[in-house]
Amino acid sequence: MAGLYLTCGLCGRKQADGLLSRNAWGHMADSQHGQLQACPTCKESHSDWENKLVSAAYEGGPSAYSQGAYA
Ligand SMILES: [Zn+2]
Repeated sequence: MAGLYLTCGLCGRKQADGLLSRNAWGHMADSQHGQLQACPTCKESHSDWENKLVSAAYEGGPSAYSQGAYA
């Protein structure tokens, strides 16, 4: 089900879903986790945000990421 909010898989930031935010955010589909999103800030700061997003998802989400599991 499409959410009302985009949630960044890297920093946990939430933003209301909309045309503008949808275009600015990074999106990728993962077979295990479905749709994953990265906020514009994380997308900017990580050139390999897609890899980081999948790694974070497999480690249990933004909290695991911020603990540096896959820093
Ligand atoms: Zn982010």
